[in-house]
Amino acid sequence: MAVCPYCGTGCKLNLLVEGGKVVGAEPLNGVTNEGELCLKGYFGYDFINDTKILTPRLRNPMLRRSRDAAFEAVSWDEAIRYAATKLGEIKAKYGPDSIMTTGSSRGTGNETNYVMQKFTRAVLGTNNVDNCARVCHGPSVAGLQVTLGNGAMSNSIPEIEHTKCVLVFGYNVADSHPVIAKRIIRAKERGAKIIVCDPRKIETARLADLWLPLNNGSNMALVNAFANVLINEGLYNKEYVANHTEGFDEYKKIVEKYTPEYVEAITGLPAADIREAMRIYAAAPSATILWGMGVTQWGQGVDVVKGLSGLALLTGNLGRPNVGVGPVRGQNNVQGSCDMGVLPTEFPGYQKVTDPEIRAKFAKAWGVDSLPAEIGCRLTDVPHLAETGKLKAMYVMGEDPAQTEPDLTQVRKGFEAMEFVIVQDIFMTKTAMFADLILPATSWGEHEGVFSAADRSFQRFTKAVDAKGDVKHDWEIISLLATAMGYPMHYDNTRQIWDELRELCPIFYGATYEKMEGLGAVPWPCRDLDSPGSKYLYEGNVFQRPGGKGLLFATEWRPPQDQLTEEFPLILCTVREVGHYSCRSMTGNCAALQTLADEPGYVTINPKDAKALGIRDQELVWVSSRRGKVITRASVTDRTNKGAVYMTYQWWIGACNELTIHAVDPIAKTPEYKYAAVRVEPI
Ligand code: SF4
Repeated sequence: MAVCPYCGTGCKLNLLVEGGKVVGAEPLNGVTNEGELCLKGYFGYDFINDTKILTPRLRNPMLRRSRDAAFEAVSWDEAIRYAATKLGEIKAKYGPDSIMTTGSSRGTGNETNYVMQKFTRAVLGTNNVDNCARVCHGPSVAGLQVTLGNGAMSNSIPEIEHTKCVLVFGYNVADSHPVIAKRIIRAKERGAKIIVCDPRKIETARLADLWLPLNNGSNMALVNAFANVLINEGLYNKEYVANHTEGFDEYKKIVEKYTPEYVEAITGLPAADIREAMRIYAAAPSATILWGMGVTQWGQGVDVVKGLSGLALLTGNLGRPNVGVGPVRGQNNVQGSCDMGVLPTEFPGYQKVTDPEIRAKFAKAWGVDSLPAEIGCRLTDVPHLAETGKLKAMYVMGEDPAQTEPDLTQVRKGFEAMEFVIVQDIFMTKTAMFADLILPATSWGEHEGVFSAADRSFQRFTKAVDAKGDVKHDWEIISLLATAMGYPMHYDNTRQIWDELRELCPIFYGATYEKMEGLGAVPWPCRDLDSPGSKYLYEGNVFQRPGGKGLLFATEWRPPQDQLTEEFPLILCTVREVGHYSCRSMTGNCAALQTLADEPGYVTINPKDAKALGIRDQELVWVSSRRGKVITRASVTDRTNKGAVYMTYQWWIGACNELTIHAVDPIAKTPEYKYAAVRVEPI
């Protein structure tokens, strides 16, 4: 029994095995997928078999003793000894905060992420641990924690099809979470109204009752205008606001000027459509807001998340079934990485590193005198910290920042500046090319554990095949390294790790392996052994903030940070595509998915822009920004709005992150992947 390793929908499936090889996948009746899969679920398994389509599986530890030397295969003993010695030397010479680690939000499980953050805090002595939520839904966590007290989806995935209004904001559902897209279709079939806010005519916009193609970079202005309409037209729930929220007066003052007419020039939307959207949303007996990277990957992502939660608070669409706010997590276990404390601010279970009592609890359980109190650095801090000499070593597990972070020239300089880089992965990624030591891990399908779906559901997954080659489970490798560094860490299996973390995390305590196996999924909070978990949050409209009330919080709109000029007149926005996933190391090694789309990538462009530039469909073009230049293919389509172009981020040829800007949200430090000024020209 497996849980799909791709998006956060958490679809359950069976891997079909013949002769020790995975030969197929069939859907299971999981809580979130109910017998459905998308094409990645059906055809995304054969990277396990080492197809070597894009890159071969890593099969043994590899070391290079100097940066100009070639990698040589070494034994695990030598690899672990070398890593322990180097990390120990760097820690002694520059201090614990000169080292950073990452968890993985992809195929590895919650138990591994727990062990990685424990290693970072208890052995290295730093809170420098992060995961790729930093570059995706970090603003959702930061924003919702402030306004509602919990950074996760408020309601469950199955509830989506029972709501009467779905407001989809900056979220390409069909490409990102196809099985959730089906739930939206079923909601519509049951009579729900669908509103889509997206500059592109994405698939979901085609079935929308109202599509608002707002200008790129105008999210905050539109959300403020939505609030303005709800208040000025008396559409908000006055009783709910009075009883369950705070901050209304200040909030009202800020959104006052954002009348639909005022934001017409910023958003490019007719005032009447903005009003109509909120009349539909407020009139629905139940409404949910779903969002994706189109909301979070902005310099103002946290503010927009706070604004979206404000719409739900104004209308009382929280604290009951079939309503809520939904930051729908992208990678299959990015919710889990955060749950497990792979964050510079939090221990597992969202317990703050700055709280002395919490630190004392974890220090006692982990058998160390003390744990670091200072908040650690973020993934997006790495290039700058490495180049300025503050970060000397990095241990990257199951992530590929040299492909997925913005402004890759800076990222490469950062990795080159570090004294020691460990990459633990299943494939030779772009980041592994900067490594001094490569540690090969078992893959999804070869290990077991627990994943967290986007709706907070813990689900068990089991192994289908034995791993080939001299590889180890991620948590075993980390434990060996911890032990070699003088901190004995011994686990026999993932259950031991899971039970240790349950004891330390009150909100996960009741989620036992047995319960997950019996119920299929256990959504946290699940505090008691006899509780089935919490399908929706904020029951009784009690928010997880001091005083229990939700916070209404508005912010002024700020324009994006990169500047359009005559030289760089088009907006580049990075997006997702249905066939490939993340850095493509997994889907690029799956025969069916690779056939669907291959190098070089493509840039989608509106027919009017293409004509003005003399560009024809499928022609090779240069795309340049202030930071770099790449070659790619033009895809001319009227689904793309005029003035903007779109690229997906997984291609080695045509890597759009050569072009993106390292401009970040000041709170979440999430990059503005959605707005870089570029030029497109024929070759
Ligand atoms: Fe996998 Fe997501 Fe597709 Fe489900 S919707 S099969 S979890 S990629």
